[in-house]
Amino acid sequence: MSLEISNVSKSFGRFPALNDVSLFAEDGEFLALLGPSGSGKTTLLRILAGLETPDQGKVAFRGQDLLAKPVRQRRIGFVFQHYALFRHMTAADNIAFGMRIKRRVDQWPLQGKAVYSKPPPRKEIKRRVEELLSLVQLEGLGGRYPSQLSGGQRQRVALARALAIEPSILLLDEPFGALDAKVRRELRRWLRDLHERTGLTTIFVTHDQEEALDLADRVAVLKDGQLEQIGTPEELYREPASGFVFDFLGDTIKLSCVVQDGAAQIEGFSTPVVGTVPADGPAIAYLRPDEFEIETGEGPGLNARIRSIIMAGHDARVDTTLDNSANIELRIPTDHAARLSPRERIRLLPRQVRVWRDGVPDGTAREDEGPFRTAAPPAKVR
Ligand code: ADP
Ligand code: MG
Repeated sequence: MSLEISNVSKSFGRFPALNDVSLFAEDGEFLALLGPSGSGKTTLLRILAGLETPDQGKVAFRGQDLLAKPVRQRRIGFVFQHYALFRHMTAADNIAFGMRIKRRVDQWPLQGKAVYSKPPPRKEIKRRVEELLSLVQLEGLGGRYPSQLSGGQRQRVALARALAIEPSILLLDEPFGALDAKVRRELRRWLRDLHERTGLTTIFVTHDQEEALDLADRVAVLKDGQLEQIGTPEELYREPASGFVFDFLGDTIKLSCVVQDGAAQIEGFSTPVVGTVPADGPAIAYLRPDEFEIETGEGPGLNARIRSIIMAGHDARVDTTLDNSANIELRIPTDHAARLSPRERIRLLPRQVRVWRDGVPDGTAREDEGPFRTAAPPAKVR
């Protein structure tokens, strides 16, 4: 095991930013930390980098206590969301910066007087910079200043600079956060490629689930400073550990239900439950927008009316209002949507649901809201 984080907690004042987080990364693994803003992602990276000290817990790297090592000796490459390039230096000088400074090379644990490495000769630095420029596909642009580079190019310089110190771990804190969607997607591919070539253990922070699932070998989902779940993208999809994880991984529709004999009763319509079935009683059913059949005419199901139909490529988005007045947006194949029309009355038949009790108020559902209502906030569609 390469990196092992055990029971790490960190509070700022009385506010717990990280609460008893344990996870590991294998050598050469690409691990994503995924969570909403404020969930503790940056705090965890800063602890690894030595910019923050945890109140509790341990971090070991290849069996050694990482927290006991001075920052300079951790050999950690760090790329931040906001370009932290030196504006008055060219791209090449930015990349060379880490190689030019003297590094402490004492044997660990520290014994006696500090020993410093000599920076490599100028020619060697120049060669390494060219190599790194080529690695990040910026050949020939070493002479440019940051202001003469695009956002994506600047982040690639920042990455080359982080790689220049030959790090053992690469920490990336929302490195593409400030870039537009198209550039982000291109860089995502490129980063995965780069990772395959360098084989560096990489921890990548993002609040973008698509980015995390697309890039990472495994994804750790953080919520309020705690680890909610860790697994491969497939494991998270197949077995989300909580409603929070399900919700965070994609567009989600939440409906109130009552669990009874292993099935979810949604407005009296019985739907099979996949995954863990909670004890009988009120709960929240979680569905994806494409997990419904739509039918017309009399019959069972959730009665609704179509508000609008948007044909968007392969799938159509069908905006509906349930008879209990909640709005939900469904996704169905375009050819099916072509047979429907706005204002038409329809029945929705959920094919399957996942059910969790979190978010259910104490006691049973309130009577004034009827046997069926959407969970607050009513029918969330992202
Ligand atoms: P994320 O990167 O997931 O958005 P952070 O790790 O930056 O989350 O922050 C987690 C929580 O800790 C936030 O609520 C934030 O306000 C708080 N926090 C982070 N750094 C500090 C600090 N230096 N002082 C006080 N509070 C902080
Ligand atoms: Mg952050």
